[in-house]
Amino acid sequence: MNRSVSVIGGGLAGLSSAVFLAEKGYKVTLIEVSPKFGGRVYSFFDKASGLHIDNGQHILASWYHNTFDYLKVIGTYHKLSFQNQLEVMFADVSGVQYSLKASKLPPPLHLAGGIMGYKALGLSDKLSIVKLVNKIKKGKYSESDLNKMNTDKLFELSSQTEKAINYFWKPFIIAVFNAEPENTSANMFCDIIRLGFIEKGGSELVLPKGYLSDIFVKPAIEYLDSKKSKVLTSSKISRIEFKDNSVSGLILEDNSIIKTDFYISAVPFFNFKNLFLSRDFASYFGDLKELTSSPIVNIHLKFDKDIAGVLPNDFAGMLSTISQWVFKVTDYQVCVVISSAAAVAEKTKEEIAKLAESELKMCFPCLKGFNVTSARVLKEMRATFVPDKASLNSRPGTKTSVSNLLLAGDWTDTGLPATIEGAVKSGKTAANEILKLN
Ligand SMILES: Cc1cc2nc3c(=O)[nH]c(=O)nc-3n(C[C@H](O)[C@H](O)[C@H](O)COP(=O)(O)OP(=O)(O)OC[C@H]3O[C@@H](n4cnc5c(N)ncnc54)[C@H](O)[C@@H]3O)c2cc1C
Repeated sequence: MNRSVSVIGGGLAGLSSAVFLAEKGYKVTLIEVSPKFGGRVYSFFDKASGLHIDNGQHILASWYHNTFDYLKVIGTYHKLSFQNQLEVMFADVSGVQYSLKASKLPPPLHLAGGIMGYKALGLSDKLSIVKLVNKIKKGKYSESDLNKMNTDKLFELSSQTEKAINYFWKPFIIAVFNAEPENTSANMFCDIIRLGFIEKGGSELVLPKGYLSDIFVKPAIEYLDSKKSKVLTSSKISRIEFKDNSVSGLILEDNSIIKTDFYISAVPFFNFKNLFLSRDFASYFGDLKELTSSPIVNIHLKFDKDIAGVLPNDFAGMLSTISQWVFKVTDYQVCVVISSAAAVAEKTKEEIAKLAESELKMCFPCLKGFNVTSARVLKEMRATFVPDKASLNSRPGTKTSVSNLLLAGDWTDTGLPATIEGAVKSGKTAANEILKLN
């Protein structure tokens, strides 16, 4: 007989574990508290502004292999657009544009070639970057030293210049980790440098060709339906119940019970503790330390005229501004992204929209004759966890001391920052652990 699994939480981690287990013939029940699946990845039509909106512009990289596997199973892998080689356009506040384009050499020389041609930096800045990547490649920093420091310290030790930090490292770190160098573990930073810049085929950026829900979420639910899985929305798990050191069932808010052979928690860290009676939490997860959250703010702007030929690329970085990236969504619509946005998130939405518009027009003066006809600002206050050195000790593994309870979620110990890839990888790892248990 097919064995059964309950998955708590219908974000990408939960969807990924549900999809990979349904693929292997498991009877899956997926339970989501909100009225929609997708968690932090969702799209909607905003009546007030008349804009179709993704809650946050999501960008992927060519090392997102678990994500690609997931999309292949649900049939939307073809809806990704891959760069042939890493290429990013930046513009600064005086409207000067700089291109960072990797060369065709094998990694990491491709990056060295790109950095050498990146005119925002002088020779000493470029050399400091290349030397650091080379040292990481050669394993010159020990794991135990890296575990003790954040990335600002690594930059100090490796004599990174101020320009190298502000015009190269910071845009990269804030985009990947949603944190400043002083809040980013040096160990995790080095791991991402290896994945993205040193290993072959890791550095190209990948953009979804369409809205997030249509690529990552709805097709997953259709796939689960086709496998006769049970998918429940607006259903809150209020407690995990234990008997004889195993999970005996999930209690819903209306006191009904779901009983299966295995259980996966795929809720965010800030909801995890609430799944347990304090007595059970203390006995199974008592030494788990709290993570902290970092916000991302997205500003969706619609213009009165066609911007297609005006912005140089599908996306561009902005230098020396509070706004960091701009993405072309349609010929009339852009999304401006501010990550690591704790200070900005305190401003009103009107102030934030004005700030983004004025910085955009400084970096791209060609937009000056264009008027914003509607704006929508989204503040995701708990977008990701802060990946500092302390976080390394606050991420639980997939397996727990309870044999039929597994953990997933971008905050679990995936070795990656909070990303789509981290979430999907965690779900796949939990699914694989259940396959091994059978
Ligand atoms: C604005 C923004 C921009 C981002 N940009 C990028 C990017 O460019 N690239 C990238 O790779 N990543 C990006 N991320 C990160 C990425 O979206 C997340 O890491 C990932 O979606 C997290 O998935 P998850 O399943 O772990 O958690 P979640 O998506 O939070 O899912 C957890 C689910 O559990 C549910 N839940 C909680 N409690 C219960 C309960 N008691 N019962 C039932 N259900 C429950 C929640 O409602 C939620 O749906 C971004 C995130 C945000 C917010």
